[in-house]
Amino acid sequence: MGTMRDAVLASANAGKLAELSRLLAPTGIVLHPMSVFGLESPEEDGATFIENALIKARHASLATGLPAIADDSGLVVPALGGAPGLLSSRYSGEDATAEDNNRKLIAALDGVEDRHAYFYCALVFIERADDPVPIFATAAWNGRIVDAPRGSHGFGYDPHFLVPELGATAAELAPQVKNAHSHRGIAARRLAAALRHVQPPDAR
Ligand code: IMP
Repeated sequence: MGTMRDAVLASANAGKLAELSRLLAPTGIVLHPMSVFGLESPEEDGATFIENALIKARHASLATGLPAIADDSGLVVPALGGAPGLLSSRYSGEDATAEDNNRKLIAALDGVEDRHAYFYCALVFIERADDPVPIFATAAWNGRIVDAPRGSHGFGYDPHFLVPELGATAAELAPQVKNAHSHRGIAARRLAAALRHVQPPDAR
């Protein structure tokens, strides 16, 4: 294990903090949630998941003076031109619940034969707000959208996201099983692997 280094996680989600902290432990990075610094989320106005992750990481790093990690994720349905995409959390409006979003998704796919969909996750690490060489890790998780919801784990679109190889929706998977397969789990392991090889900032 290298020297311990503090970093801020640009997310308010306690589940993400626990999972990323565990995966990043071998890198010596100790993550602190954005909430302990009293930070508000910035406007995510990027055109891609990667840009939005970077916007969040820069915002958190600028406000705290610490290195930052941020993620951005969502569901992409090619038959719907990539929707819900960047709008995944607010597909059916600003204060949309997961049920609202799922209802809109199933309605949009009415009569559509091609049900392929994937979850996508972009993670980024920056040493400082103006770091010219951010480290990215991305991953996709392929599945199919099913009309009837199944399962009670997870969140968001999970009950409608069928993973054919596992014969289960994401909401039917125990959390550890989901992490082993998911866009976020794979991207996190890729980021951890990349960070193990990172040179100190002055050597990059
Ligand atoms: P965020 O990146 O955590 O803000 O996630 C954006 C949105 O994408 C969430 O609100 C969900 O609607 C959707 N999403 C991302 N990852 C997942 C997942 O693992 N399961 C279900 N929905 C997800």
